[in-house]
Amino acid sequence: MCEQCLRVSRRGFFGVTAGAAMGVATLAGVGLDISARAATALSPDQALERLKAGNLKYQKAPDVCAADMLKTRETVARGQSPWAIVLACADSRVAPELVFGGAGLGDLFVCRNAGAMADTATMGSIEYAVEHLGTPLIVVLGHQRCGAVAAACEVAEKGTKLPGSIGPMVNSILPAASAMRGKTGDFTDNVVRESARRTALRIATESPIVAEFVHGGKVKVVYGRYDLDSGAVDFLG
Ligand SMILES: [Zn+2]
Repeated sequence: MCEQCLRVSRRGFFGVTAGAAMGVATLAGVGLDISARAATALSPDQALERLKAGNLKYQKAPDVCAADMLKTRETVARGQSPWAIVLACADSRVAPELVFGGAGLGDLFVCRNAGAMADTATMGSIEYAVEHLGTPLIVVLGHQRCGAVAAACEVAEKGTKLPGSIGPMVNSILPAASAMRGKTGDFTDNVVRESARRTALRIATESPIVAEFVHGGKVKVVYGRYDLDSGAVDFLG
């Protein structure tokens, strides 16, 4: 049995013991009690270590772990207790479940859009996972050669008008692009880091729900950059 399968079988035990101890608030009263299951017992730091270990595994052996999918599905079918929230780009090369070592069903609560931005839908999704599912870690994951960030850089540098909804979509990256103009190094890559940093800060401070959990030490918000060439995720803060 591989590490992934072991984690899945262990989680059945953790799931039973963790919920009452953590006292996770629920949104049952507003009709969102669709995932009733005790929260993970992992601390924010333990969840982060698990992600780092998964990414190392992915770098060394990028074949997807042969988890027992049927067993996993049965385990999580009636409720979820994801141990990390990942806000990532919609880029097809940045699938969090793969980048973090073949995470299985029920492991990661993933929000994705081009540029990994925290719009209203994303903020609400993250708040739901924090408050209702008791997920202890939030990761904002930027990545090398991000097209959305590159587009925002072009708007910032050349005033390019982007078609359709793409222009408004990248607007929230523009403050990071403006802040990085003229800095040494690759402009787009600098903005990838800065945008992820700002987004993580926004999530931690502008969401009253997340801020309360962060203040209480139950949730940590971090950000990182995924390197398309090496497969490595650098956690930057
Ligand atoms: Zn991208």
